[in-house]
Amino acid sequence: LLSLRGATVRFGGRAVLDAVDLDVAEHEIVCVLGPSGSGKSTLLRAVAGLQPLDAGAVLLGGRDQAGVPAHRREVGLMFQDHQLFPQRDVGGNVAFGLRTRGVPRAERSERVAELLELVGLPGAARRAVAALSGGEQQRVALARALAPRPRLLMLDEPLGQLDRSLRERLVVELRELFGRLGTTVLAVTHDQGEAFALADRVVVMREGRIAQSGTPLEVWQRPADAFVARFLGFEN
Ligand code: ATP
Ligand code: MG
Repeated sequence: LLSLRGATVRFGGRAVLDAVDLDVAEHEIVCVLGPSGSGKSTLLRAVAGLQPLDAGAVLLGGRDQAGVPAHRREVGLMFQDHQLFPQRDVGGNVAFGLRTRGVPRAERSERVAELLELVGLPGAARRAVAALSGGEQQRVALARALAPRPRLLMLDEPLGQLDRSLRERLVVELRELFGRLGTTVLAVTHDQGEAFALADRVVVMREGRIAQSGTPLEVWQRPADAFVARFLGFEN
């Protein structure tokens, strides 16, 4: 469904994405791990069309996305820093992508209620976004990204601000939901446990390159090099 071919992004002469090749198959759940600054968010932004490439290509469904603006790409993106609409209530935020896609009102409110239930905020549709905690805002952002049921859903640290028990519950429910809807997922996380529980495949990034790509078990049992091993917390 998604292919990156030699995708390169430079800031001030430094390659933050350095000739990255990556394929994500239909229905696959891929989690991107890596240290802060390794280019994870830049990768998602490049796929979403929010970050132009300096070289290489992004293909969605085999079609080169060069020149396709962000709002015409068939992807959903949940940002690391939420970027909720402060002037809309919770329901208005979650329904945003549904309204722009012309989903009728009755179906909109039904889907909003379902999603708020899923993320553990039942009945919160009329609440003001500004009055929510960081973790609650994160869950609203997750519901908003899920709402339009994009073919490719990209999540940047979707559960980062949530406590462990909620994270563990959501990981299980999200995996089930993605399976049921057939959603292809590219998610960034710095929580290995979350990546290993959620992903069919794990991609470890280092300084703009892919250090290793494999099933959670492969990466865990056979780290490709000393960097990956150290990153996973092995001593040697
Ligand atoms: P984190 O885990 O902290 O979110 P990340 O892996 O998502 O890190 P990116 O946000 O992709 O990292 O950034 C990769 C590098 O690119 C960083 O060194 C960052 O400072 C730099 N960078 C990102 N965006 C810009 C920009 N607009 N201008 C200049 N440098 C940038
Ligand atoms: Mg980031």
